[in-house]
Amino acid sequence: MKKESRKEEAPVMPELLAPAGNFEKLVTAVHYGADAVYFGGKKFSLRAKAGNFDEQTMHQGVQFAHDHGVKVYVTVNIIAHNQDLDDLERYLAGLKDMQVDGIILSDPGILSYARRVVPSLPVHLSTQANVTNHASASFWLSQGVCRLNLARELSLAEIREIRRKVAGELEVFVHGALCISYSGRCMLSNYMTDRDANQGSCSHPCRFSYTLLEEKRPGEYFPVEEDERGTYIFNSKDLCLVEMLPQLVAAGVDSLKIEGRMKSIFYVGGVVRVYRAALDYLAQLPTDAWNDPAGIRMPDHFMEEILKTGTRGTTENFINQRPGSSEMIYTSSRAVQSYEPVAVVRQPGEAPLVEIRNQLTPGEHIEYMQQGMGLTPVRIVSMQDESGNPVTKANPGNLILLKTEPQLSEAVAHGILRRQKGASERKIESI
Ligand code: SF4
Repeated sequence: MKKESRKEEAPVMPELLAPAGNFEKLVTAVHYGADAVYFGGKKFSLRAKAGNFDEQTMHQGVQFAHDHGVKVYVTVNIIAHNQDLDDLERYLAGLKDMQVDGIILSDPGILSYARRVVPSLPVHLSTQANVTNHASASFWLSQGVCRLNLARELSLAEIREIRRKVAGELEVFVHGALCISYSGRCMLSNYMTDRDANQGSCSHPCRFSYTLLEEKRPGEYFPVEEDERGTYIFNSKDLCLVEMLPQLVAAGVDSLKIEGRMKSIFYVGGVVRVYRAALDYLAQLPTDAWNDPAGIRMPDHFMEEILKTGTRGTTENFINQRPGSSEMIYTSSRAVQSYEPVAVVRQPGEAPLVEIRNQLTPGEHIEYMQQGMGLTPVRIVSMQDESGNPVTKANPGNLILLKTEPQLSEAVAHGILRRQKGASERKIESI
């Protein structure tokens, strides 16, 4: 039976598992330090709008990840109806041939197919199955599942108890958007917009603004408002457990999962980069620091950087106490993002070739997000197109040779350049 780490024994660092909604996000997650990525194919996967991978891109994604020593797990986690099963055997056999490192599912029927058709393929249980206790954990492990993604509604004490009682791998969500229902078991979207959250098409009505209607007064809407913008009564803050990492690591969790296959490469790169650096920070602590995991304080810059990637505020959800109204955000459903991506490095060099993501002009101050927590602030001296013609304004999609001061000599392919939001208007220098 797997145990929590004992005193005077440094724990094994868990895997960092990142979302890869498409090939570019996969490359970004790998670049910024994920140990493993997860994505869905065009069929059998939730997050219908995430882009997802066709067979050819899936091959490329697996190849790219494996070339960098990163594992790949593929979601097969729809709530399946009879017709969904028609092509399942062929699909599962294809995943095995592709040498993916595991599949993620929640449906017992799909599990039975997987055990029969591809018995050597590791099976991870999706959060959709809502494992909230050790008996449920034991049950799924006895069915041939090797990893359990635990329900987000668990406390640290409950995770520890499950760890003590079962030997299988445990995976815990550490970052990302939260549902106000048990992990996606929600009919709000289906009811209001005919888009089924359990088929991966949630329209996020929990983020809508609501008013109160008394049934005998049709048309009379009573405002339920925090301010003039309304009230978002179901709108949860985002999960962020960066400051709980020491205790999760000490608890013997095997994998830390980041939510967000629908999010941008800036989010994926920014969040993975911080959690990678945070785990590396913990890995180099002296062994005796682990005598008191709760006493290990994470340096502030990890949280400061997380807040720059875009959040609806942060909550530790159920991990220490049951969430109350302070874990909701009543004033707006929009994520606050103080920085925005401006370009992605495509080719390093004295003047690196970059792909523009947000309009950019010479004279602007931007910063390069290194792997690890480092940042390189630079000023754009000039921009040229690939033929060497000067460019005074670069637009999204343009490929631009970027001359900066100081020179961006450490920039490598897939690295992201960002700027503080509003910085382009505040630009004080021009060339
Ligand atoms: S409406 Fe909100 S709570 Fe319901 S499934 Fe969608 S994101 Fe989750």
